[in-house]
Amino acid sequence: MVFDDRAMKAVLPADVYRSLKKTIDEGAKLDIGVANAVASAMKDWAVAHGATHYTHWFQPLTGITAEKHDSFISPSPDGGVIMEFSGKELIKGEPDASSFPSGGLRATFEARGYTAWDPTSYAFIKENTLCIPTAFCSYSGEALDKKTPLLRSMEAINRQALRILRLFGNDTVKCVRTSVGAEQEYFLITKEMHDRRPDLLFSGRTLFGAKSPKGQEMDDHYFGAIKPRVEAYMKDLNRELWKLGILAKTEHNEVAPAQHELAPIYTTTNIATDNNQLMMEVMQKVAAKHGLVCLLHEKPFEGVNGSGKHNNWSIATDTGVNLLSPGETPHENAQFLLFLCAVIKAVDDYQDLLRISVATAGNDHRLGANEAPPAVVSMFLGDELSAILDAIEADVPYNGTEKKQMRLGVDVLPKFNRDTTDRNRTSPFAFTGNKFEFRMVGSADSIACANIMLNSAVAESLKSYADRLEGAEDFDTAIRELIKKTIKDHKKIIFNGNGYDDAWIKEATEERGLLNYRTTPDCIPHLVDEKNVKMLTAHHVYTETELKARCEILLENYCKTIVIEANTMVTMAKTQILPAVDDYAADVAAAAATKQAFDETLTCGREKKLVRRLSELADLIDERTEELKTATAALGGIEDMKEEAEAIRDGILAKMEALRAACDEAETITAKEYWPYPSYGELLFSVR
Ligand code: ADP
Ligand code: MG
Repeated sequence: MVFDDRAMKAVLPADVYRSLKKTIDEGAKLDIGVANAVASAMKDWAVAHGATHYTHWFQPLTGITAEKHDSFISPSPDGGVIMEFSGKELIKGEPDASSFPSGGLRATFEARGYTAWDPTSYAFIKENTLCIPTAFCSYSGEALDKKTPLLRSMEAINRQALRILRLFGNDTVKCVRTSVGAEQEYFLITKEMHDRRPDLLFSGRTLFGAKSPKGQEMDDHYFGAIKPRVEAYMKDLNRELWKLGILAKTEHNEVAPAQHELAPIYTTTNIATDNNQLMMEVMQKVAAKHGLVCLLHEKPFEGVNGSGKHNNWSIATDTGVNLLSPGETPHENAQFLLFLCAVIKAVDDYQDLLRISVATAGNDHRLGANEAPPAVVSMFLGDELSAILDAIEADVPYNGTEKKQMRLGVDVLPKFNRDTTDRNRTSPFAFTGNKFEFRMVGSADSIACANIMLNSAVAESLKSYADRLEGAEDFDTAIRELIKKTIKDHKKIIFNGNGYDDAWIKEATEERGLLNYRTTPDCIPHLVDEKNVKMLTAHHVYTETELKARCEILLENYCKTIVIEANTMVTMAKTQILPAVDDYAADVAAAAATKQAFDETLTCGREKKLVRRLSELADLIDERTEELKTATAALGGIEDMKEEAEAIRDGILAKMEALRAACDEAETITAKEYWPYPSYGELLFSVR
């Protein structure tokens, strides 16, 4: 159901196909004649595949995708209808977009937003609708979406990488692109249980819930046999994803009970980003068909591992060479090391942007919680690469070329060379042989932001290298000096040890001076730090106005998310938890009274103690609910977004935790039939 290269080749006239291909591959301008021909063929193809409508499909700053369906049908003069779709309709749309967040970029009187066709991401059919991937911008041209800056960042890295490749004498490469494979983690629970919990319904995570007697401590779920119901889900999911051209390759159980992972085959960053958005949507839809709910939240259950998204990233040429793949010859390896160094420098120079790119209220629960990388950005290179870099820095020959054989201890297994990298699952940014894996991205978030920052930061390193090398007298010496200098200046970002260790955080911040922005309000304002604005505007990824708007929107999203959670807690506590605790206490008290009436020598000490504790907890719950309610209401008086976010971080969060603690204790001493919600144990072990 994808209008991909194969489909295009089959239905487009040869000259139109060639023209379009030039646009896709090399960014050549597209003329309206070609657009008309593509539109017409695309419509015929779509109608033949059952489509009746089309939509410009875009990614506003809400974090999800948006679509507005129009039918192909136009009235014809003879009273009938014809199916029409013009190049103009393909290229440009004008959705009424006044309700999408714009961070003040689009005053309400100028509500118009424009969508513009992105020919580099294939159109596809979803439920009888032809979806055309588009960028979304304001009347005055500011980006209102995530795709526009992503495409700009890809262009930036393309420009700079080409300069470097030319210096290495490569004149054949026309285009350099980044590729991404985003591994997606998620939880599956039954819909029946999900719908009984307002917290899951409104916020996607449990805001209350006592620990289950069994959690993930046995590690018996990880890579374990997949349960039949989950297997049926995965099978169906794969089929739906394959229809949309998303090649889901591996799937396995994750560490936590009910947690799973899906990995697609990597593709161009732009398509990978579109695909990931689509994948999240399809995962939820297919779950509903199976009576399940797919939870994409970063931390659906306290005390249980949360979910992330591993952004596997590499840079490749249109001729199919992965620039992050170590080569066979010294020449190839010089090029590899230069690109590797560009990434090292980028990650160090723009730690803050990488941290910002994954900052959401949900991800704050996960980063640094000993299940995901800490909030401190560092990178893992593995022993061999680190040794190579050390040798270069110290100007000594590298003696480790004899690749270490991995000994398996079993003779029947073939011996094979150890990868240049060993594995480290605790690093935020790990080199895995021919790509980097950025592990800080949250499971519910778009991968666009992470890749925008990564592409831009690496483009900036490459630019500084190209500037230097283009004027160099002796290329080889200049390269060696550049690599040496990069290692010397930036080795503080390289860390091959255990990232979950507290000692690392101390070393990172106190000895190495790495940044540690623990929460979203801590880091977001740095988006508009002078150095960041300078870099991102220099590469035309964002304008300063766009950055300010995004800063505002990110903080606003943080505040809104937590206020919804706080309000949900207040409602749950007042209307369900307190009545349940009261009912149970009253019934226990009544039972004790009955017993004593029956036999006055009975002391009913246990009942009295229980009723007393339940009453105390009820008072505490009531008190803490009131406090939370008052504090949340007071946020309304704060004008400035940054101040509001800080007030939430410094006040509301602790109040939510306190309320939860009292409620969770009450859950552990209230009879099960009184408790209004399915327990953690039931939620986590419900799907079999
Ligand atoms: P690993 O064993 O390192 O997890 P996999 O082959 O399972 O590697 O790949 C994990 C993810 O990384 C997959 O989504 C895969 O498509 C993606 N991936 C593999 N190679 C690349 C690459 N060169 N660039 C980007 N992503 C890649
Ligand atoms: Mg992985």
